Amino acid sequence: MDLEWNRGYDKTALDEILQIGAVKIAEPGGPILDTIDLYIRPRVHKKFDHGAKRLPELDRSKASDMKFKAAWEQFRAWCGDETEFASWGGQDLDALKKSCVFWGAEYDLPDKANDLQAVMGRVFGVTGHQLALWRVVEYLGIPDIYDYHNALNDSLYTALVTKLLTREDIDYVPPPKVKLSRRRKPRLSAKDFEPRPPRTTGPFAEREPALDARGSRSPQCPLCERHIWVTEWRHAPESPEYWGMARCPEHGRFLCRLELRKGEAGWLGELTVPPPGEEVLEAYAGASSLYRCRLTGGRKPRRRRRRRR
Ligand SMILES: [Zn+2]
Repeated sequence: MDLEWNRGYDKTALDEILQIGAVKIAEPGGPILDTIDLYIRPRVHKKFDHGAKRLPELDRSKASDMKFKAAWEQFRAWCGDETEFASWGGQDLDALKKSCVFWGAEYDLPDKANDLQAVMGRVFGVTGHQLALWRVVEYLGIPDIYDYHNALNDSLYTALVTKLLTREDIDYVPPPKVKLSRRRKPRLSAKDFEPRPPRTTGPFAEREPALDARGSRSPQCPLCERHIWVTEWRHAPESPEYWGMARCPEHGRFLCRLELRKGEAGWLGELTVPPPGEEVLEAYAGASSLYRCRLTGGRKPRRRRRRRR
């Protein structure tokens, strides 16, 4: 489904719906089974916003006799017992609901539609911007003979591009993103590097000595191979991964990972300096408990000079 609306420029906070368009399909990529196309006469805002002014079918809304409530009743009857909705973008059902509240009509559809723009963006690996419907239509070689920004046409195109999607793509719920707070966003060396082969350490009888041991705490700088030192580890409960920060005087700070596993001989560690990709940074951000190493038996790392304020 798709809506066209006008936000206007006045103080009434309503996205006034000018057109409701929708098509029915039984499955992703399935044939179009039915369509509905309703133009609604604008009555709330006196002026049209920039987007509404450019709607190719704005005159049909202006010339329409239909009020929102009547259009809503028709649309609601057309939907029947349908329980699943989809749109390009995630706002349409919400806008419908708000208009129902505004005009005093009963809203009994779900609160959320499948956001096929988000699903398609995920499938195509688009990040940082919203995927335009016309790009997917073009990609599929569907002839774009209908104007965009017409609610029925956009619904039709949206239904057609679902042939790229499976049921699983649509139902997939991405895991919540771990936000790096400023405190946990590490300042790292900005230089690119290839990971070196892991350094193994152990076996140790207990976990703590494995975390404290010099061999577990001194990876090599991935750029100059000088030994650098970790003095504290962070880890997430249940995770075998311990994360620490070590600094090369020449190349800056690196995030280091010690993976501790208990084998038959005792605790074995694998120490690496992984390139700080998104997954690495997220794992580090999720590592909330702190373990300060006991620095006995080794060279005491020199105290860092206090930074001047
Ligand atoms: Zn270095």
